[in-house]
Amino acid sequence: MKTLGRALKAGVKGFADAFAPARYQAGGVQIRCTHCKGEMFREHEALLNTTGATLVNLDWLNKSGTALLCENCGLIQWYAKKPDRK
Ligand SMILES: [Zn+2]
Repeated sequence: MKTLGRALKAGVKGFADAFAPARYQAGGVQIRCTHCKGEMFREHEALLNTTGATLVNLDWLNKSGTALLCENCGLIQWYAKKPDRK
């Protein structure tokens, strides 16, 4: 899925503006980084609307999502529903 990878990278560009790091919950469960177990994340909203997604027939991805970036290690987790800021 080379094209999808490029598309997602393009969507991740321009993420510089961010809220201050905070804790979040999704589905009533506190979100932790799956890599470093960190609890502080920066939140970014991004459109997943890309030419790449259309090319590989993933138009269902063409909506906004919320990305949480681990403050400690930088891992990105995507949520289709906006997580609750705590
Ligand atoms: Zn982490």
